[in-house]
Amino acid sequence: MTDPSAHRVLRESLGSYVLGHLSDQEADEVRAHLTGCPGCRAELAEILPAAAALSGAPRPLRAPATPPVDLADRIEARIRSEEHRQRSRSTVRTMALSALSAAAAAVIVVAGVELTRSEPEPAVPLETVDVVEAGAVRASAGLVAHTWGVEVKLTASGLQPGERYDVTVLGQDGTAFDAGAFVGTDGEVRCNLNAAVLRDRAAAFVVIDQEGEEVLRAEFPT
Ligand SMILES: [Zn+2]
Repeated sequence: MTDPSAHRVLRESLGSYVLGHLSDQEADEVRAHLTGCPGCRAELAEILPAAAALSGAPRPLRAPATPPVDLADRIEARIRSEEHRQRSRSTVRTMALSALSAAAAAVIVVAGVELTRSEPEPAVPLETVDVVEAGAVRASAGLVAHTWGVEVKLTASGLQPGERYDVTVLGQDGTAFDAGAFVGTDGEVRCNLNAAVLRDRAAAFVVIDQEGEEVLRAEFPT
């Protein structure tokens, strides 16, 4: 199935799929498409940790279906219990497998295989932003505009190992949107953080340490 318009529609629903917000029929359509589309499998593998963090946002993107909310919570709990992005790919797959239902697990196995092969090609253009650094923290970041919100792809070093960092995207009207959190390590941290505010209504992101100090900030180009 390589119908381009179907591919585009399916890809945009991957986030909802991971969060369990699709109907059974829609989820079946996504699974059917994934079996024939390596690009969408790669995208799925990439958004899985981010979508799990997103599920912790105070305002759900859509009215959540009852059982999958628990599913998303369990994924998030698994992922947050480990240092963010600091584990082997096989561990990611194992954790995802143990957290997901058997039905969803089949899809993740495919995605895991895809992960070990190579970095997935970027599905959408990355918009680079200038990051203002404070103290010892060094960072670069890019934005991806999605239909469901904005994604911040952050690379940072000079962090306090074990320290939790919270990321917030600020709307143009000053509203704060939770974009998740990550844990500092000795080396470089790479993470994808998602906020439920559209790119054209988002003005900046800030990273706050456990003491409430702002360690990174980036104003988004308008
Ligand atoms: Zn596809």
